[in-house]
Amino acid sequence: MTASKNTTTDPWVIIVGAGPSGLLLALLLGQKGIPVQIVEMAQGPDEQPRATHYAAPACHELRRAGLLDEIHSLGFVPNGVSWRKLDTTYLAGLDNTVPDNKDDSIVCLPLHKLAHVILRALDQQSSVHISWGHRVLGVGQDDNGASAWVDVDSPEGKKRLTTQYVVGCDGANSQVRKSLFGRSFPGFTWDEQIVATNVG
Ligand SMILES: Cc1cc2nc3c(=O)[nH]c(=O)nc-3n(C[C@H](O)[C@H](O)[C@H](O)COP(=O)(O)OP(=O)(O)OC[C@H]3O[C@@H](n4cnc5c(N)ncnc54)[C@H](O)[C@@H]3O)c2cc1C
Repeated sequence: MTASKNTTTDPWVIIVGAGPSGLLLALLLGQKGIPVQIVEMAQGPDEQPRATHYAAPACHELRRAGLLDEIHSLGFVPNGVSWRKLDTTYLAGLDNTVPDNKDDSIVCLPLHKLAHVILRALDQQSSVHISWGHRVLGVGQDDNGASAWVDVDSPEGKKRLTTQYVVGCDGANSQVRKSLFGRSFPGFTWDEQIVATNVG
């Protein structure tokens, strides 16, 4: 979503969601000096481990952001990853020894630790601001295209933030997607169900 005018104090981009997608995008934009505000409904970073490993496309972006060396130092590079039944029967997997992939080999690091790697890098970016405890209620743009807006429920109450661009990085139940497209969610649903969960 874009709009042509806003005030000089507004961020150029508002990113909704401080998951890995929102944080990494903010870092890449911040490294170019672009004013960014992340609005995140949680009070702080998600401390659930969730993801364990990152495949080549993700590693390519993490390398581009200058984070891959630190991720390697905190995590490890496996020979491969696999999904198995409880009795260890092999279901599917990825080989991590493909020579063409060497620079972007799969790396393992729990997601909450990866988030802190990105957050430490964001601390160095003066053009990026994170607003924790800001739940987005809706997004839109005014009829003249003068500004894009994001309505939030924040610790100071409900307010409207204006910007040039809004990026929805707010996950599977995205409020940004619902605000723009309603209940429509083009695509299809697999017959099989996959459940991913953290086990302690
Ligand atoms: C158990 C488990 C294991 C996984 N393992 C892997 C793995 O090994 N490798 C891998 O690549 N992926 C894995 N995944 C998937 C991976 O975690 C997700 O793809 C990834 O977290 C998506 O990142 P995201 O930033 O797009 O969204 P999310 O991580 O969902 O972040 C969205 C953020 O938006 C915020 N938000 C939502 N709505 C609003 C709102 N209205 N206002 C403000 N903020 C809002 C949320 O609080 C959240 O912080 C796993 C997932 C799970 C659950």
